[in-house]
Amino acid sequence: MTDADLPPLMRQYWEVKRAYPGAILFFRVGDFYEMFYQDAEEASRLLSITLTSRDKSRADPVPLCGVPHHAVTAYIAKLLQAGRTVALCDQVEDPKLAKGLVRREVVRLYTPGTLTDSELLSATEPSFLAAVAVHTTSQGRQKLPFESPVLGLAALDLSTGEFWVSEYVGERGLSDLTDELARLEPKEVLYPQDLPPDIERVLAHVRGLRLCAQDPSRFDRSAANGLLREQLRVASLAAFGCEGLTSGLQAAAAAVSYLRDTQPGTRLDHVRRLQVRRPGQDMYLDSVTIRNLELLTPLSTHQDRGDAKHQTLLSVLNRTCTVMGSRLLRDWIVRPLVSVDAIQARLDAVAELVQNFQVRASLRTTLRGVQDIVRLGSRVSLGSATPREILALNESVAVLPQLGTTVTSLGSQLFREAAQAWDGLSDVHDVIERAILPEAPVSVRDGGIIKDGYHSGLDELRRACRDGKGGIARLEALERERTGIESLKIRFNQVFGYYLEVTKANLARVPDRFVRKQTLANAERFTTTELQELEDLVTGSDEKRTNLEQELFEQVRVQVAREVPRLQAMGVRLASLDVLAALAETAAMNQYIRPDVSEGGTIHIVEGRHPVVERLELQSGFIPNDARLDLEGNRLLIITGPNMAGKSTYLRQVALIVLMAQIGSFVPARSAGLGVVDRVFTRVGASDNLAAGQSTFMVEMTETAKILNCATNRSLILLDEIGRGTSTYDGLSIAWAVAEYIQDRCHLGARTLFATHYHEMTQLAALRDGVRNYRVAVRERDEDVLFLRTIVEGAADRSYGIHVARLAGLPHPIIERAKEVLAQLEQPPATAITTPAHEATAPAPTTGDALPSPHPIVEEVRQMDLFAMTPLDALNKLADLQRRLDRAGAEQGETGDAPRPYPTTSSDTPAKPAEA
Ligand code: ATP
Repeated sequence: MTDADLPPLMRQYWEVKRAYPGAILFFRVGDFYEMFYQDAEEASRLLSITLTSRDKSRADPVPLCGVPHHAVTAYIAKLLQAGRTVALCDQVEDPKLAKGLVRREVVRLYTPGTLTDSELLSATEPSFLAAVAVHTTSQGRQKLPFESPVLGLAALDLSTGEFWVSEYVGERGLSDLTDELARLEPKEVLYPQDLPPDIERVLAHVRGLRLCAQDPSRFDRSAANGLLREQLRVASLAAFGCEGLTSGLQAAAAAVSYLRDTQPGTRLDHVRRLQVRRPGQDMYLDSVTIRNLELLTPLSTHQDRGDAKHQTLLSVLNRTCTVMGSRLLRDWIVRPLVSVDAIQARLDAVAELVQNFQVRASLRTTLRGVQDIVRLGSRVSLGSATPREILALNESVAVLPQLGTTVTSLGSQLFREAAQAWDGLSDVHDVIERAILPEAPVSVRDGGIIKDGYHSGLDELRRACRDGKGGIARLEALERERTGIESLKIRFNQVFGYYLEVTKANLARVPDRFVRKQTLANAERFTTTELQELEDLVTGSDEKRTNLEQELFEQVRVQVAREVPRLQAMGVRLASLDVLAALAETAAMNQYIRPDVSEGGTIHIVEGRHPVVERLELQSGFIPNDARLDLEGNRLLIITGPNMAGKSTYLRQVALIVLMAQIGSFVPARSAGLGVVDRVFTRVGASDNLAAGQSTFMVEMTETAKILNCATNRSLILLDEIGRGTSTYDGLSIAWAVAEYIQDRCHLGARTLFATHYHEMTQLAALRDGVRNYRVAVRERDEDVLFLRTIVEGAADRSYGIHVARLAGLPHPIIERAKEVLAQLEQPPATAITTPAHEATAPAPTTGDALPSPHPIVEEVRQMDLFAMTPLDALNKLADLQRRLDRAGAEQGETGDAPRPYPTTSSDTPAKPAEA
């Protein structure tokens, strides 16, 4: 069947639908949005609405479903959640004035990254559309081996107007880009279809990204500059510090062009600033670390550990009073600062508010009255703000003078800067206050928006309407008198307008001048010339009044829209005020202290606590612990201790305290001296990424490799259980080599906390400078182990895994058998594992795995070249060996453990313990 065979409406439908093949088309017909064909089948399933059909008489009726126009947003939200996009096709001319078929056009394409409606957005999270582009200098010719592409990333939040761009180069470029995507959590990522497949593959493996391939022309290099200059209304992009950028601008231009296409007819007036973000401007946190430290979302394993409360650093710190503050805090948490001055400025501000309870309380109370002026401003700019939203904006603007006075009373640098730049927006307030009724409705169509006295023409129409209605009431009384029908009533409905209603019993008394309009079962409805005239007056002026109100509202909107950049700027100021006040409130409520942040290399925490774990209801409260790391003798801390003792908590608490300080927050400790950290890396626990084709061990090694490649000597590294995913000796060898590599200054020298159950690792302290052993103390009583949760110097001797297994409820026979096996394995040299005692007749399997290797110092003495040494060298060497033996002995003495086999360090590769 060709289009010509179709009825005109369906012909029009197909004309529109062909331009949006990937979207579900909502086609406006009267008061409904209708969907046809496959769209109808899919939408009816996803929305749980009835599927029917159009033209049922035809042999092949068209599948159809529909939703009422006033409830459309809720249905769109459901489809977006199901991963679909929606094209909204409206009637773009008045059906009353249309000649023939009403003109219909797609007025908006709803995609996850282009939303602005409050019902479709999470108030406390940003909603970024991201775009990725690549620029190679070799464009068009063969790439030389040393050329690396420039990766561009742009992020644009249409709901706030925030727009920034970044570029990544070199070996780590791609991994930096994907880490940024993980921090950003964009709702949609655009990329050119001709993106090199290796890059596309990497993007496809980033968790939770919704990738959207685009025609490469959207990323056109030659057009990018011009398009951005036009959008940002500048003669040169140098105004934003963008000179020299390449693929970043291509990505930025692609984002703008995509928005223009998805929001046809909308001016993106609130997108007028482009920020350039340079890598290294803030602390580098990769996606793994953000997840492992549970900065924004809890790890699901939390539940496994019995901690039902899904707390995160964000939830503990978030005492903001505005949603703008919530969003900013989230951003601060994933972008801690690295400049000591900038950190101190935030800490000064927080400290001032911690000390000044009254100002803090007043600031927070006033802030509670502030709505999301940034997103409201965007909606004003996009032309979609409702009268209620304009009123919400007005209420927020109304508190600015009072807030301004409070801010002026504060002395810290950040508050002084805010006070100086303070904009009370009183002109915006006046415009709205003068025009809009406080009880204005949600919809512009309903009228009742504009105040009396604002516009004389409107007042006139309102008066006429009132007079008409009064006239109708008077006419009703008059007609009762004239006809003598006591029950006569004048009523109104949408279909027949005004009418006189007379019951059947009184029909005989109806005069001839009454003209019949409608007959009901027990009454008749009439009109008269007089009633008709009054009706024309009322309905005519009513329609004119609502039209005029819409016009006046639009004028107010345009006036406010001009000031949106000022609203955005104040929104940013209010958000940071809110975050600073929230951090002060949290500091006061949770007994945090101000950290002493410096450029030095020492991290010295006294009585530190884990900000999240300490909030849980622990049986005996949270036990604080000290930590000392530096670039000299305390570079690598090896932490051993039983399962469940608190090693992971300790590791994370050190990192979280550092991170909180660099955000500008006070920290949970008695005192904290913190040398600024440029990057925090974590390798924690076992996880796999099967979707990306990676096993648990592969993920572990990939993450470890990344740490070793990306860390610097100013970084902080947390390694929890490295090498656990493979055989014991492979794992231990890797863990050993990794530890050596990191602590060795000629490689990295990064400050590292290394929690492990490989007790052999503790021997490293005796062999290398900068390595120290710590253990989590426990007390044994009969069968029981008491977790003291205290970190003390020295090495632990065992893991008490069987004890923890018993606590976890493993069946008794298994626990008993495990004890037997352990006892046998622990006998040096190891004997074969026998069968369980009750099966003693069975032949015993043998194992030859666990003979101790020679002591490394013996090995070292053996390898000494005595003829190449002076007597003094030899004496020094002897003293050194003695010192190391003493130290190792002291540690073994503490734990009462016999020396265990461990690798030598005569080379960078640890030797595998001798096999029997
Ligand atoms: P495993 O070796 O089995 O992974 P772990 O030593 O890493 O165990 P964690 O997971 O850190 O142990 O801690 C176990 C539990 O102990 C935590 O969930 C918490 O409830 C509690 N805990 C940890 N540290 C402390 C502390 N300092 N004070 C009080 N309770 C603590």
